[in-house]
Amino acid sequence: MPKRWAQQVALLAAWLAAAALLGLVFGAPAWWLTAALLLYVAYTLRYIYLLDRMLDGSKRVAPFATRGLWAEILARVDKIKTKSRNRKKKFHRVLREIRESTGALRDGGVILNGDNEIVWFNPAATWLLGLDPRTDIGRRIDNLIRHPEFVSYLAEPGGEGITIPSPKIESTWLALQIIPYGRDQRIAIVRNVTREIKLERTRRDFVANASHELRSPLTVLSGYLDTLADDEDLPESWQVPISEMLRQSNRMTRILSDLMELMHLESAESDASHDFVDVCTMLSLMTREFDSATAEHPAVSLRLETDAALLGNETEVHSIFFNLVHNAMRFTPASGSVGVVWRADDQGAAFEVTDTGIGIPAEEIPRITERFYRVDPGRSRAMGGTGLGLAIVKHAVQRHNGVLEIASVEGEGSTFRCRFAPDRLVFRGGQAEAAV
Ligand code: ADP
Repeated sequence: MPKRWAQQVALLAAWLAAAALLGLVFGAPAWWLTAALLLYVAYTLRYIYLLDRMLDGSKRVAPFATRGLWAEILARVDKIKTKSRNRKKKFHRVLREIRESTGALRDGGVILNGDNEIVWFNPAATWLLGLDPRTDIGRRIDNLIRHPEFVSYLAEPGGEGITIPSPKIESTWLALQIIPYGRDQRIAIVRNVTREIKLERTRRDFVANASHELRSPLTVLSGYLDTLADDEDLPESWQVPISEMLRQSNRMTRILSDLMELMHLESAESDASHDFVDVCTMLSLMTREFDSATAEHPAVSLRLETDAALLGNETEVHSIFFNLVHNAMRFTPASGSVGVVWRADDQGAAFEVTDTGIGIPAEEIPRITERFYRVDPGRSRAMGGTGLGLAIVKHAVQRHNGVLEIASVEGEGSTFRCRFAPDRLVFRGGQAEAAV
């Protein structure tokens, strides 16, 4: 038993013993004892009353007992109350600071519960998304922002988020990302990216216009160079420079055509179309062409494990397949091999090109799909590369809602795999097998 309780029991015992003694001396001990007990009850009630008032919220209740059990109980309650008061003050201060800082933020923040109902949002969300704090708290966010891309992103948030036009401000673009936190809570972060989008459009338009403008003079130059190169009367001292000029002008033509293709892919707003693309026939023809194009090349094999057709844009699909097989052929020595596979399962289909070529150093893999990025620029140029092939592949695959995966071991070879979702496939019910 704690000391204060032992003292209290001893005090009560002494009090009752004194009453009994007085009863024995003056007579009627039962009355003395009852009176002593009643006094004790009154004393206890007084402190219970004080405790009650303290808990009720009176700041401080005086007078406190200075010693004994009740003094300690009341002092402890007072301490707890002071602590909680300080904590409350601190909490309010932090809350005010959060409110002020989120109010000053230029980015919008919207807190959503598990049912996508709005729990809270900051002032920036009010003007970026057109939300009204008086009416929109508790409403489902997809009833307020109905953009189809937002609705499907909300159902399955992931990746780097989406960019949609502002539902409130005209000609304004918003980048939106949903981040889960806590228990079934999510925060939607909204950023005004109109400036970035405009700059990106200006850059794209500039490259597209420049490529377009350069194409006609280049065609004229290439034409003359072609004629000159074929001219049997061309002085011998001119033959080397002319053929080099022709090679370079052909390279420039390829770069311009790749640039225009890339710009076209990048500026296309929506996903690729859903035309029927007969992958098996396309791959059979393509691998056969590669096999007969040059005398010295690695062995090419094609395995068609499915007859699935792809729903997409035929030109873009051809570009994906062509660029990947072309790269594998260029970066693999003639003694090596290139394997092309088209297969499918219930997760979707995969187009895969595996080579036994020079491979790619692990640290370069994340960068090789960037425009003009090459592991060895000199080698790529010497082989007629433009440095744009994989950037085109990546964009075209993304426009088909697919993913490009790259695995490689330097000096051993590489595998480039494009995965396509089941909703981009049409199965014709047969299992195809073919080889070149
Ligand atoms: P390039 O015209 O230079 O081939 P790409 O965009 O097609 O441009 O490829 C970028 C770079 O990625 C290449 O320069 C090369 O370094 C590397 N690369 C692409 N495919 C392969 C491959 N199959 N094997 C080894 N390296 C590759």
